[in-house]
Formats: sequence, C-alpha cells, structure tokens
Amino acid sequence: MAAGQSKCTMCGKPVDEKYHPFCSKRCADLDLGKWLGGGYAIPATEAPDDLEELDDEDEF
Ligand SMILES: [Zn+2]
Repeated sequence: MAAGQSKCTMCGKPVDEKYHPFCSKRCADLDLGKWLGGGYAIPATEAPDDLEELDDEDEF
C-alpha cells in the first residue's frame, strides 16, 4: 500500500479513487448529508394539500 495516500476526510481510511476524496460511498453520503443538514438548510416550503371540501349532503 502506497504511503502518503490521501485519507478519507470523514473517517481517515485510505481513499478509494472511485469515491475520492472519500473511502467509500457511505462516507461520501455522510459528507453530503452534513452539507445538506448543516450549513445549507433548505427552507421547506410545504405545499398545502388539496383539501377538497366534499359536501355530501345528498344521502342525509
Ligand atoms: Zn471514510
């Protein structure tokens, strides 16, 4: 194993070139989640559900 190889910024394991600069997809996802859940908090605009007022008074 080559010395001086880049280490995963998440866990410190040797970096897999496929997931550079991380060692695995898991760490890459963790980093992505860190960004999404941390600094960049996207304001959740909750669209109101389609509330259809059904007045079924025919049967009554
Ligand atoms: Zn890692």
